[in-house]
Amino acid sequence: MSESVSKSNSVVRTRYAPSPTGYLHVGGARTALYCYLWAKNQGGKFILRIEDTDAARSTREFESAQIADLHWLGIDYDEGPGQGTDKDNGSFGPYRQSERLHIYKEKAEWLIGKGQAFYCFCTEEELERKKEEANSKELAPHYDGTCRKLSLEEAKKRLAQGERATVRFKVYNKSYAFRDHVRGDVEFPEGMVGDFVILRSDGFPVYNYCCVVDDWLMQISHVMRAEEHLPNTLRQLMLYEAFGVTPPEFAHMSLLVGDDRQKLSKRHGATSVTFYKEEAYLKEAMVNYLVQLGWSHPEEKDIFDLDELIAKFSIDRFSKSPAVFDLQKLKWFNGQYLRKKSNEELVAAASPFIPQDHPFHKQKVEWQLKCLGFFKNYIDFYKEFASAMEIVFNDSIEDDKELRDILAFETTPTMFQYLQSELSKIESTDSVGHDLFISEELFDRWSNEIKTNLKIKGKNLFLGMRALLTGRGHGLELKSLLPLTPIKIIKSRFEKIKGYLP
Ligand code: GLU
Repeated sequence: MSESVSKSNSVVRTRYAPSPTGYLHVGGARTALYCYLWAKNQGGKFILRIEDTDAARSTREFESAQIADLHWLGIDYDEGPGQGTDKDNGSFGPYRQSERLHIYKEKAEWLIGKGQAFYCFCTEEELERKKEEANSKELAPHYDGTCRKLSLEEAKKRLAQGERATVRFKVYNKSYAFRDHVRGDVEFPEGMVGDFVILRSDGFPVYNYCCVVDDWLMQISHVMRAEEHLPNTLRQLMLYEAFGVTPPEFAHMSLLVGDDRQKLSKRHGATSVTFYKEEAYLKEAMVNYLVQLGWSHPEEKDIFDLDELIAKFSIDRFSKSPAVFDLQKLKWFNGQYLRKKSNEELVAAASPFIPQDHPFHKQKVEWQLKCLGFFKNYIDFYKEFASAMEIVFNDSIEDDKELRDILAFETTPTMFQYLQSELSKIESTDSVGHDLFISEELFDRWSNEIKTNLKIKGKNLFLGMRALLTGRGHGLELKSLLPLTPIKIIKSRFEKIKGYLP
């Protein structure tokens, strides 16, 4: 077997390699996004590899949930579980590590045959004792080499007799260096690690080992992953060397931290993409937000969609410093994308978030379009529409000094009489009991007549109309708000306001 497989340097192949031991973490989603964007930017392939060698904690449910969340974000993989292999380059699957155990075994045997790995019969207890001994002597807790000295024949004899063994890699005594796309030149001095286990006695591989075998055999060109994996890269470089394979390029992403600058965890709030999906965050906002946590747009833009990202993405604009996962900023992005939606899109998407018994649902589509188109300017989330709309369905009076001061204007009685007469001329509901609304034209006519005929101007005009028709001293733009308020609500407030006139 020749272990020197030549890699086609021109093809970009990236992979996201989650362990299905939980839901998709926002940090994982960010990594997946970067891998996806780089592959797409380069016309390459994005691979999803499931690292499920921790059999006790990995589940198919978590795998499916993570895939569903990636899909929700628009991160679709070219190769992965249930998704074809690269036709041009032959088959790279299977894509679940638990289905590749025979490959890890075969490659480990090849390393053993080459003298680069050995069977290790040391028991857990022995290893623990040796580690404690090394600690007490203030020595590095590296494997002491007991089984390194065994001949292969002797090891095989012991295996045949039923003894269990792990497979350990014989580390090279030398320093290593590589160039990281985020961190620049990284150096590992000699002696940092001792002979490490690559296969457990149950045949399951250890992460650093199967990761290298898979990245190599799946012809991954760029490995992008979290910064916490940086120390693992040393062991991985040794393994690439042993296999005679050129390592992929690496990019180790800066940490995601909470507002206290500690690594992002549940303590800081929800960390799973599933949570944000269920809370109806907009996927466009989520993608835009996640991407700029550690990467910046070449034109320093804030808002960009997936297509623009694919076109503009590059691996030389990553930030070295930790990125703060800031819910306020995510909320801001959500608001930006919510406001980008057309009124039609909003009615379709936001209606389910407005309680079933809300009067919103009883109104005509025309009104619904206008209503959401107006209130979207004051909210960030679909579910905030209901409370923002309160103001048009609530006939209460907000009694405060501001209101009382306006009602005390000397122009109020005249204006009150005028509006009373105008309101008495219009119906509140149509023949089948549906709410009626005033038009913007009618509102303009009232304002003009008050100005021209009653000679009431400026703040007396606008604050006076607001106070009398909404029962409040301040609020949103009256010309838009009033035509969205059922006439019956305006009339009811107007009746009540009488009791507050000086
Ligand atoms: N399964 C590893 C993780 O979830 C993958 C790390 C890597 O990308 O190499 O952290």
